[in-house]
Amino acid sequence: MQNREPSAHINGAHRSSPGESAGRRLVVMSNRAPIRIVREDGHERIEPTVGGVGTTFLRLLERHGGLWIAWSGGQKTPPRLPFPPGHPCFAMSFVQLGERDVSLYYYGLCNRALWPLMHSMISNCHFNTSHWRQYVLVNERFAERAVAEADSGDALWIQDFHLALTPAKIRAKRSDLPIGIFWHVPFPPVELYMVFPWRKEMLAGMLGADMVGFHTHGYARHFLDACERVLGAEVDRARCEVRYRGRLTRALPFPLGIPVDYFEQLAANPKTLERAQRIRRALRSEIVVLGVDRLDYTKGILERLLGFERFLDTNPVYHRRVTLVLIAVPSRTKVTDYIMLKRQVDETVGRVIGKFSSAGWVPIRYLYTQFGAEELVAHYVAADIALLTPLRDGMNLVAKEFVASHPSDDAVLILSEFAGAAEELTEALLVNPYDADAVAERLREAIEMEPAKRAARMRTLRHKVHENNLERWSANFLHALAGDFALEAHAASAVGAD
Ligand code: UDP
Repeated sequence: MQNREPSAHINGAHRSSPGESAGRRLVVMSNRAPIRIVREDGHERIEPTVGGVGTTFLRLLERHGGLWIAWSGGQKTPPRLPFPPGHPCFAMSFVQLGERDVSLYYYGLCNRALWPLMHSMISNCHFNTSHWRQYVLVNERFAERAVAEADSGDALWIQDFHLALTPAKIRAKRSDLPIGIFWHVPFPPVELYMVFPWRKEMLAGMLGADMVGFHTHGYARHFLDACERVLGAEVDRARCEVRYRGRLTRALPFPLGIPVDYFEQLAANPKTLERAQRIRRALRSEIVVLGVDRLDYTKGILERLLGFERFLDTNPVYHRRVTLVLIAVPSRTKVTDYIMLKRQVDETVGRVIGKFSSAGWVPIRYLYTQFGAEELVAHYVAADIALLTPLRDGMNLVAKEFVASHPSDDAVLILSEFAGAAEELTEALLVNPYDADAVAERLREAIEMEPAKRAARMRTLRHKVHENNLERWSANFLHALAGDFALEAHAASAVGAD
């Protein structure tokens, strides 16, 4: 594995799917499991969660078999479970986390240190040695489980910053396994990364992998810079390689895609179209602008509101004609920074509504809730313009979902320059969310854009979203991880799931 030539299968260049030649069993490892326990009439039932990356891995493992190691999310589960329950195709292996783990590792180091650090939001970082110690312990527990579960012919795909130390911990015991880790968040510029007290340990942990995947070239470049400056590792930028303690790791971009067919089908469903019409009728507005995010300080929700306020200040001609629908999904509601942000958003929404509302028109419809896919897509369909203004975002899947939900190309996407998706979706109207005048101006531009120009931009965006869909993302990552290895069919019984 270690001195392989760099693979050509990067950046969506490889088109086949895994499973074409004899190969390896896939072991996926992530902090959270893709399941929820439904309790009904005194009975418990385990169901997969719907949507997103979890669904991709479910599909991948259902097709090829394999193993998924994860925390059940606090729900009581047996250590091992064939999955899905009715017709098992692979095995789930659950790592148990106690209260102290959840508090210090998950809410502490993951949510209050690594999350803001990776998003370059240093003023939101809280560093605490006891949080770090627990992070190390939990990573050890995950690594031990992987070492115990993985056979020598397997390939291991680790997800995200929760498990950054596991590659080196596993590598110390298992030189035979191809190990990949995908980083679902950004990676900050080295000057910012340097503030992390455990900056060396984290990089050394990640470098136990053969490959580290990022959403963009920029994040991969930041990672390489950090390896050079913090660890003194040998870095070859042209080949995207790091050599550290005699091992070679590649850092490559794999922009995450969405399940395009799923969104297209939902958007074309007559029920969705009817619901979208009802949403529009209820808003009684000629132009509908939509913002959708978890209520998180990285998402630029306040900046969006200030930009919208500036738009209304400077464009009275659009009063009573435009409504901003703001969907804010409750998130990390016990963390102080999120409680404070919620208060600020509530106040700002109230202030803007109070300032501009007039008979029969309220400029903002604020929905503090999480919608299922059907209702969310109905909102995508109902909107003319998506206004997505994260201050920093690994990718921003909402942008891609909005594009996929407008097959008639009659919509405009306004997207922050600081979302990972902006590296690909260059036909969006890109904006600096810190500049309220620019947000206001982009909004005016979007509203007044010629229909032909709108359609041409959206067509290109849709083409890009199609080209790099979720299936292709996982196929590209796996091919690049171990040359052209493919996944072998492994029934759940073969991994001792019963
Ligand atoms: N989403 C959802 N219900 C909602 C709002 C959002 O299921 O009411 C989903 C949305 O479909 C998207 C995800 O949440 O897949 C948000 O992903 P994104 O990359 O935009 O942001 P993240 O929350 O991962 O930072």
